[in-house]
Amino acid sequence: YDDRDGQIWMDGELIDWRSANVHILTHALHYASSVFEGERAYGGKIFKSREHSERLHASAKMLDFEIPWSVDQLEEAKRQVLKANGLSDAYVRAVAWRGAGEDMGVASRRNPVRVAIAAWEWGAYYGDAKMKGAKLDIAKWKRPSPETIPVHAKAAGLYMICTMSKHEAENKGCSDALFMDYRGYVAEATGANIFFVKDGEVHTPKPDCFLNGITRQTVIGMLEDRQIKVHERHIMPEEMEGFEQCWLTGTAAEVTPVGQIGPYNFEVGQLTREIADAYEKLVRE
Ligand code: PMP
Repeated sequence: YDDRDGQIWMDGELIDWRSANVHILTHALHYASSVFEGERAYGGKIFKSREHSERLHASAKMLDFEIPWSVDQLEEAKRQVLKANGLSDAYVRAVAWRGAGEDMGVASRRNPVRVAIAAWEWGAYYGDAKMKGAKLDIAKWKRPSPETIPVHAKAAGLYMICTMSKHEAENKGCSDALFMDYRGYVAEATGANIFFVKDGEVHTPKPDCFLNGITRQTVIGMLEDRQIKVHERHIMPEEMEGFEQCWLTGTAAEVTPVGQIGPYNFEVGQLTREIADAYEKLVRE
């Protein structure tokens, strides 16, 4: 993604895509002092744009740093990025991190906080799984406890086990991996939340040790509008045996049906289709 035409917003200005670089002694590269957002624009408008900018600020706070741009300034920067790159349907990546400077130890009080926003075209995250139902591996790593790491931040450090688990899943011919949490409950995929259907009701893990995704919250609202009961609760992996349908939610994933998780199979059923279609409409309203 580094060698191409385009413009990236960096620390207050649009610069050439190829020049959007950082120094090798960037604190974030060594110590994961970085937070980010994944957003999607539909027809030139970012879905839940403000919520994403607010979450970026909240994530930075959880890592004990302040983003030097207000939510309004970030909103304006995102508009500039889409316009400068002539994008209408696009993925938007905002990232904020502790840069290079006076400090090279673990402490980083004097290094500047840097912010960048890039955007590019990015189609279906799970490719044709979106139609057939994705196949998921069960990750060997567990989502950590909220006493171990700030689990509600969208922070780079939480993605180390995501990359490892996703690679392992792909090596086995799966599209993604499903994490259990430190207690053994079903948690989330490497970049998406999960929902199950049984007897016309929906069950989804309680987000007490992972990201309560913006798409997840949107989909819960859509289900409630349809008077469908949503149980946010702790789910044991064995319960997957009795669930009939399953889907993932995320900005990149949107609503993606799941056909298989480890030994458990699901049908791509009517409610899954309905919610996936309704989400596609909603993001363009
Ligand atoms: N969990 C993880 C680990 C993620 O990376 C994402 C994607 N941001 C999600 C859940 C879903 O969040 P959202 O719906 O806000 O994109």
